[in-house]
Amino acid sequence: MMGDEAHAVGVELTVLAATPSDPASRSADHVLVGAADDEESLRRLAGATDVVTFDHELVDLELLARLEALGTVCRPSSSTLRFSVDKAFQRTDFAAADLPVPHHVILRHETDLAALASWSQRFGSPPVLKASRGGYDGRGVVFPLDDDEALVEAREMLSRGEVVAEERVTLLAEVAQLVARSVHGQIVVYPLVTTVQSAGMCVEVRRPVDIDAVEHAFARALAERIAEHVGLVGVMAVEFFVTPQGLLINELALRPHNSGHWTIEGAATSQFANHLRAVSGQDLGSPEALTPAAVMVNVIGAARPGSLRAAQDVEGVVVHDYAKEWRPGRKLGHVTAIGTDVAQLHVRAWESARAYGTDTQEA
Ligand code: ADP
Repeated sequence: MMGDEAHAVGVELTVLAATPSDPASRSADHVLVGAADDEESLRRLAGATDVVTFDHELVDLELLARLEALGTVCRPSSSTLRFSVDKAFQRTDFAAADLPVPHHVILRHETDLAALASWSQRFGSPPVLKASRGGYDGRGVVFPLDDDEALVEAREMLSRGEVVAEERVTLLAEVAQLVARSVHGQIVVYPLVTTVQSAGMCVEVRRPVDIDAVEHAFARALAERIAEHVGLVGVMAVEFFVTPQGLLINELALRPHNSGHWTIEGAATSQFANHLRAVSGQDLGSPEALTPAAVMVNVIGAARPGSLRAAQDVEGVVVHDYAKEWRPGRKLGHVTAIGTDVAQLHVRAWESARAYGTDTQEA
């Protein structure tokens, strides 16, 4: 989707794709085939471009740092990307900077497991356990039923790397704040959105968000502060938990994010255009919404494919087909509806996504 915007913002795009048929290569000017964590492939990419940027987080930070030391310009930089790749680092750094995150402990060694003792007594429920690195779409996040199970799970996860154990918070909602920051420090903030999860995966994004003006302003202020704090260049989504105690930061995505796909049709400048503008050193475009409401529904493969045609026939929706091979559970596309009445847009977007072949539950 970044490729669709590149020419309009004057960027020549070279994609490092895992396979020649990778959908990301469809709209690129040049394609290199290789893995994002392979040194030789990254060196070829760095040699062919002025700036390296990212559309996923499965990157090797140490490798990127080595390339940066040799002169490769990564935007965002490897030290910024660490805030999204390494959950233990993010939680520790943010807590120290007085940014609101859930109560947590970092488990690095067997002896740290002692910190899980009588967790439920202290926090009211067993901890949520998160692999510090490598998890996405809910993989690597475990919700033990009691403290004994938490201990067993944590020990098992620890054998594969650092673990974040954190308080299981009461979720009134989850919201995401998309923000872009230029090389020169210009910041633009998009309208806040609600994200709806099913089985750890985002299934729907909608706006406007039904929270009070104070929390709205707080989300905006926090996102701006985080953008400065992490040295952002590009687009970032800050995912928040809305809790009875207020907003808590969950995680950062340091790239165009699923919660911002609605901006393709729904905002004056899409997240992809602003990401490319930012990383190529240009001024940013307006993040203003074009309509009062928007709904985006992800198409996540059900057991059998549906009909793209039938999905497109639903009135008032735009269907984005990622041209990926059908596989149950895989994100295959998304549907966006923009307008004034969020309830009506919700019905239309889900009708289209279902026709296309998603069987996730709406919330
Ligand atoms: P991932 O990196 O795989 O997206 P997250 O840390 O965002 O994982 O967790 C996935 C989902 O699990 C969240 O969107 C939220 O619904 C739930 N979750 C995560 N952490 C907590 C928590 N501390 N308390 C309650 N629910 C949580």
